[in-house]
Amino acid sequence: MRIGLTGLARSGRSTVFSALTGLDAAEGPRRGRDDVQVGTVKVPDARVEALARIYRPRKVVYAELSFTDFAGARGSGPGRGALHAMREQDALCHVLRAFPGVAAEAPDPVGELDSLETEALLADLEVIEARIERVRKEGKKTPELALLERVREALEAEVPLRRLELDALERKALSGYGLLTLKSLLVVHNVAEDGIGAPAPPSLLDEAAARGTGVITLSARVERDIALMEGGEQQEFVESLGLGEPAKDRFIRAAFALTDLVSMITVGPDECRAWPIRRGLPAPRAAGKVHSDIERGFIRAEVVPWQELVERGSEARCREAGVLRVEGKDYVVQDGDVVRFRFNV
Ligand code: GDP
Repeated sequence: MRIGLTGLARSGRSTVFSALTGLDAAEGPRRGRDDVQVGTVKVPDARVEALARIYRPRKVVYAELSFTDFAGARGSGPGRGALHAMREQDALCHVLRAFPGVAAEAPDPVGELDSLETEALLADLEVIEARIERVRKEGKKTPELALLERVREALEAEVPLRRLELDALERKALSGYGLLTLKSLLVVHNVAEDGIGAPAPPSLLDEAAARGTGVITLSARVERDIALMEGGEQQEFVESLGLGEPAKDRFIRAAFALTDLVSMITVGPDECRAWPIRRGLPAPRAAGKVHSDIERGFIRAEVVPWQELVERGSEARCREAGVLRVEGKDYVVQDGDVVRFRFNV
């Protein structure tokens, strides 16, 4: 799953990217407008950690997300190449500057959100108008045309498409266009070091809600400093800030939640592992993520919610207590299910 980080110049987007990925993002003038950089992160998962304490596996594997860093500039917008790459992301995240100092202007996170979303609305409108033109030329009055016109109306009224009521078929019809305002969105309110305890201002929360999204407050610089520290030192520093965990972890989980994925978990002495799967997947398809043989030869799945397993300490005890269930091919795998597949090939 791919999350695109967008933001105006000096919003701290590259700093967020470095904090998340541990990679150095090139700053300002050295970057071309089409420059994009990609980094992969593990999705922190306390469930897998708790299970690993029981199984003591040789390996612990987390779900992963990739973040792409896109330069943006007020007015001129991202370059063609960046725009193209942005369309291929599964979700977007706007980074807004709320710390003073680097730019002459006072921070204006609401204005930045508006500016980024306006850019996205215009980019989508361009795509939709071109498509309408083409469909009209072909002279067909298709259901697609009616949908496209409804979409255009929304965009012209500055309604992001994620706020439009669309059924599954309509969603499918639009899925090939890479529409930016149809993507799930998260807003990062990037505050100064002394602002991490304070809630985001109501004006920003309202503006984000109107765009169909929520806000995460963090200080990119603090997060990057934390990311550079050693384990023990990191823990101490995070606690001294009055935080239970780095805001980065909260952010990565929120980004993961945007993608409509859930985590299936497998356990054993070799490996405890979170498998990101689409919400609503039946057991054999979920099994196919682990191995295609298991999907082909699927017999049944033994399922226990992760809390039960952690609480009781073993699958045998879960079975005795009747909380380990045997499920067939129609079972829809739930987030946090610990699954053992029985199969025959
Ligand atoms: P970009 O242009 O959006 O990629 O912005 P950068 O990540 O390069 O950040 C622009 C400047 O703001 C850099 O000098 C950063 O060190 C600084 N900066 C980024 N995040 C913070 C923050 O949370 N607090 C403060 N005080 N400065 C920050």
